[in-house]
Amino acid sequence: MGRALTRFDAPGLYGPRPSASRVIERVECHGKHLEIAWDDDLVLHTHLRLSGSWHLYRIGERWRKPTEQMRVVIEVPDWVAVCFSAPIVETYREYDRFRHPGFGRLGPDLCTASEAELAECAVRLGEYPDQTATIAEALLDQHVACGVGNVFRSEILWACELSPFAPVRSLLPEDCVHVINAASRMLRENLQSVHRVTTTAVPGGLAVYGRNGQRCARCGDTVQVRRVGEHARTMYWCPGCQLLHQPDAPKRTDADREMDPHPAAAKYLADLPWRRASLAG
Ligand SMILES: [Zn+2]
Repeated sequence: MGRALTRFDAPGLYGPRPSASRVIERVECHGKHLEIAWDDDLVLHTHLRLSGSWHLYRIGERWRKPTEQMRVVIEVPDWVAVCFSAPIVETYREYDRFRHPGFGRLGPDLCTASEAELAECAVRLGEYPDQTATIAEALLDQHVACGVGNVFRSEILWACELSPFAPVRSLLPEDCVHVINAASRMLRENLQSVHRVTTTAVPGGLAVYGRNGQRCARCGDTVQVRRVGEHARTMYWCPGCQLLHQPDAPKRTDADREMDPHPAAAKYLADLPWRRASLAG
């Protein structure tokens, strides 16, 4: 701490990078979460889950883990801190709306949370500071609960039949409990496995993620994709059966359905057997 950054490397970083010569002001550890804050209000958050670890070395000292497992390198004069195998590596600004004092610390980890902590996550979701935010945005916010990534977000919302565009203010307390419990169950079931499986109804194991243009295993409608949120991360959902708390604004225009403007792609979509059937019917 108190030393200027001389090198920063994080190949899979999600968020802005700290600038050279910025000084580390604060390092905080909550269980498997580590937060490093620089003096320009940038915060690096890593979550170690089962496999990750931080090591501190003298410059030039040999690392005790393979370079391929490196996720973050933070170098200051004389010292280098290396994070290995952390599943979550992200940065954000302290003055983000989610960092305001009323909202406080990161939420409990859904992979290890007790019953009481799951209940706390549900409350954090229901009392989300921005009530106009969509459930899709709030689920990714680690201040509600830690552990939900982009893939699981889509899968959790499908499992709960929740519209990803549902504003948080429309959720009932039981909806919050339901979605948090579903999220926790799904994450725990996948903790040890390499391939993510959230449903046995679809070959490949994922219900909607990466399946745009394909048929929903539950209702037969066509899975859609859209980029949402400030980081424009891809979200997949089924407009046919994820109707819970869907906002009033029309979601199913033809323009919505033809995501790919290329004529060949549009023709391909129109020719899908279930699309033909629904157009004819
Ligand atoms: Zn469906």
